[in-house]
Amino acid sequence: MLETVHALIKKTAKQLGLSEQQLELLLKFDAEHTFEINLSDGKTFPAFRVQHNNKRGPYKGGVRFHLEVNIDEVRALATLMSLKTAAVGLPLGGAKGGVAVNPRELSGVQLEELARQYAAHLAPHIGPKVDIPAPDVNTDSRIIDWMVEEYETLTGDNSHASFTGKSLSKGGSLGREAATGRGGVTVLARLLELLHKDSSSLTYAIQGYGNVGAFFGTVAQHEQSNWKLIAASDSRSGVYNEAGLDAHDLFNFKASGGSLANYKGARRVSNNDLFGLDVDALVLAALGDVITPKNMEGVKVTYIVEMANGPVDNKAYQYLTNKGVIIVPDIVANAGGVIVSYLEWWQNMNKVRFSEKEVNRRLKTYLTEATDAMYHYSRKYKVSLTEAALAIAIKRLTD
Ligand code: NAD
Repeated sequence: MLETVHALIKKTAKQLGLSEQQLELLLKFDAEHTFEINLSDGKTFPAFRVQHNNKRGPYKGGVRFHLEVNIDEVRALATLMSLKTAAVGLPLGGAKGGVAVNPRELSGVQLEELARQYAAHLAPHIGPKVDIPAPDVNTDSRIIDWMVEEYETLTGDNSHASFTGKSLSKGGSLGREAATGRGGVTVLARLLELLHKDSSSLTYAIQGYGNVGAFFGTVAQHEQSNWKLIAASDSRSGVYNEAGLDAHDLFNFKASGGSLANYKGARRVSNNDLFGLDVDALVLAALGDVITPKNMEGVKVTYIVEMANGPVDNKAYQYLTNKGVIIVPDIVANAGGVIVSYLEWWQNMNKVRFSEKEVNRRLKTYLTEATDAMYHYSRKYKVSLTEAALAIAIKRLTD
């Protein structure tokens, strides 16, 4: 992933005529913290925080607990965060963190000790005006609340602005949970408007009916009356109904612990067949690298919305873009989460609380402006939306 991200930056830097020195500043990392967490029962885990670039504001990025976390992945994701915050015009930089651990193998007590040690080790290097971590894969508000508590005990800070993604009682923001899915709907809807396609009907399928995918589906059902969800999948199975699926019903079914493999009232579709469905849009909300040379030729859609980070690999991106498929890039499509994280931090710093309506209004403004800028750049310079979003981000980081 790091190679792909660096290749994209180098290509865009060349198109923009940046100097070697400017390119080097984009590729380098400001700081890397690599350390070991030693639990009191003797278990040890490698831990990381990479701070990529703070030219536009404090570093910002999630902390992931996953067995496959490694320094190169953290570097790539930190770089993507700098590009994402710049692409949507936030006054923030980019960072990422992680611990190479399978949290499902830890007890609640061990998980809390891990979270607290992670925050304690990084306390001298983070803070409300320095670096503001957030949840990511396998980390949630409960884990972030422990980290905030630890940070505040050690430093005396009481702003609650040192981390975002907190529970509401600890200073979290209304609207955060739905923000990434909601943001994806805003971006696709605005793009269709710019393309004068907003009055036509749109059929779509969602790969990955988790937090992001399910909020995409339910918000779209509420706000976009001419969109129809035809298929959805999770890691075990997919469901399909040409007449349309009820996104809320699927949401409730999943929330009650069900797997789509057992969902009644719809035909089954495998994850691989979902990519080949004859629908207008494919919303990729599960994992990275899911559309590759192995399956790219079967993709029939007009639009791909990248809600996961990097779900279309580089070769598939080239192939599909040449074929005329419009790929809505991750750094704009899934930026809703970091935008509401920024709003959470802003509320904490200014000791105010926005209503959910106000959070959603501000989220929409950021993403509409980012989509407009990306679209107009792509038209003006005859490049893809991905290249346009990257160019805008890189210009903002180097200007
Ligand atoms: P999640 O764990 O809630 O949901 C992921 C869903 O994908 C689950 O339903 C899971 O069953 C499904 N899935 C896993 N493997 C699959 C497979 N091979 N095929 C089909 N489905 C599969 O995670 P999430 O928070 O919804 O995040 C989804 C993606 O979006 C991740 O890649 C994440 O990094 C990215 N993302 C999330 C946010 C956020 O705010 N949550 C922000 C930006 C990007």
